[in-house]
Amino acid sequence: MIHDVAIIGAGPAGLCLARALSGHGLSIVLLERQAEAELAEPAFDGREIALTHASQALLEKLGLWSRLPADEVAVLRDAQVLNGPSLFALKIRAEQAGAERLGHLVANRAIRRAAFEAVAECADVQLRCAVSVRAIRHAEREVQLELADGEVLHTRLLVAADSRFSETRRQLGIGARLKDFGKTMLVCRMDHEQPHRQTAWEWFGYGQTLALLPLNGNQSSVVLTLPPREIERLRALDEEAFAREMEQRFDRRLGAMRLASARHAYPLVGAYAERLVGPRCALLGDAAVGMHPVTAHGFNFGLGSVQRLAEAVLAAHARREDIAVPAVLARYERQHRLATWPLYQATNLLVDVYTNDRLPAKLLRGAGLRVAQGLLPLKKGIARHLTARA
Ligand SMILES: Cc1cc2nc3c(=O)[nH]c(=O)nc-3n(C[C@H](O)[C@H](O)[C@H](O)COP(=O)(O)OP(=O)(O)OC[C@H]3O[C@@H](n4cnc5c(N)ncnc54)[C@H](O)[C@@H]3O)c2cc1C
Repeated sequence: MIHDVAIIGAGPAGLCLARALSGHGLSIVLLERQAEAELAEPAFDGREIALTHASQALLEKLGLWSRLPADEVAVLRDAQVLNGPSLFALKIRAEQAGAERLGHLVANRAIRRAAFEAVAECADVQLRCAVSVRAIRHAEREVQLELADGEVLHTRLLVAADSRFSETRRQLGIGARLKDFGKTMLVCRMDHEQPHRQTAWEWFGYGQTLALLPLNGNQSSVVLTLPPREIERLRALDEEAFAREMEQRFDRRLGAMRLASARHAYPLVGAYAERLVGPRCALLGDAAVGMHPVTAHGFNFGLGSVQRLAEAVLAAHARREDIAVPAVLARYERQHRLATWPLYQATNLLVDVYTNDRLPAKLLRGAGLRVAQGLLPLKKGIARHLTARA
């Protein structure tokens, strides 16, 4: 048997693509190295995903949004950017775009669970867990995947959705520009005394970067970026000592704080694939573009890649054409690169400038925020970008 599409990696991007392609007469196989139980009930991983209105619209279309439990979804109304010890903040407000909110924050495990449930209902998607691909071979009109147990699968189109460190990308001979920021990000939920007013903070302190993502009630996701050794020290602190240190790091602006979840750490490495497609193959989600989380665009871009690839493939299928010919894949590559490359570069530049603690950079950072605060069209533009439905 030959499958139409084989997707390696049943993370949120891979699962969403399978769901988007389902129901159109294609046969889809999804290969994942984790056990099925881990996909069905994903563990808390500390990630709270800021979703734009366009991402919400796609999740609604894919039948995921209605599956998200209310307590795992929080309103993100406004955002503010702070620099150093100054109380001055650049504010981006939803009302600047005539909207009630900039977006939502949704726990990553809730997205994964909803995506798994949605795919489990698709009779044309075969999910194979606890497998790994040993070799990939190209034949004339198909790609062959040799699994670790020797079984060989045949597919017309291969999609790599196996994370920013994608082994499939490497097996396909596609390189990626990796940018190691040399820092680690610690994420956890914390309760705090002062209200967050559904406002996200990005605080470029001197020697540390802090972010606060508002959840429900007086709880937020706290994101702290530091050199790896310091993050290890913080993870090893007992809960009381950790809470006191976080209060201090937040300059007591949130009052008393209390740890409300496990602490997770992520090394900060950005990745942009040198090519997003190859012969009968395409890269999806983080395997194509792995963003620094500071601009909260990783999965939003991942969903963009799902939408663009699904549209290109389904249009070819509707015309009864081969879904994996170069013209179809080139359309996907062109559109996705155009949508992501400028923001990928801008994000890396922002991180470089705003985490540089030399005096000229510190002055430039403060001045930059004040200039931006006075530029209403810029702030409206950002708010409109986040709240546009398509
Ligand atoms: C701290 C943090 C905060 C973030 N915040 C935001 C945010 O606010 N907004 C936003 O849009 N994005 C955010 N992101 C990014 C977002 O989490 C990622 O973009 C998203 O998870 C990528 O999904 P993916 O499916 O492409 O990859 P992954 O989530 O990495 O999933 C890859 C899947 O492939 C499987 N796999 C890996 N290798 C293989 C293999 N060889 N064979 C088979 N299976 C394999 C893995 O087990 C996994 O299931 C954040 C990321 C971090 C770390």
